[in-house]
Amino acid sequence: MADNCIFCKIIKGEIPSTKVYEDEDIIAFKDINPAAPVHVLVVPKQHIESLEELDEENIKVVVPAHRAIKKVAEITGVADQGYRVIVNCGEGAGQTVMHLHYHVLGGVKMGEKIL
Ligand code: 5GP
Ligand code: ZN
Repeated sequence: MADNCIFCKIIKGEIPSTKVYEDEDIIAFKDINPAAPVHVLVVPKQHIESLEELDEENIKVVVPAHRAIKKVAEITGVADQGYRVIVNCGEGAGQTVMHLHYHVLGGVKMGEKIL
């Protein structure tokens, strides 16, 4: 846990969120400023700043994170129609919250282009 991290505060329940899914390792909640009809953030409970901070020990969080992404897609009803998963890594890629998270986006037809 990091003291001044918004997502750590959400994990601790100090800041409210609309929870979609939770297990021992992961919390998933609706993005406060959704970019699509379905926009959920899948967040490892361990404070890891970004993909760049993954190491041989903490990389094990990737398995429950991907499992949770599938669960979130089922819960939000986008598993069949398709959804997009984005991880912004570093300020240059638009990362604004320095706690590793996966954006799960869906509910709208998306084009083939990423950018
Ligand atoms: P990033 O730009 O770091 O990849 O994504 C951070 C995301 O967190 C943004 O889409 C932003 O809307 C969302 N966000 C920031 N603060 C909060 C908050 O307090 N609650 C929720 N639910 N989402 C937040
Ligand atoms: Zn954090």
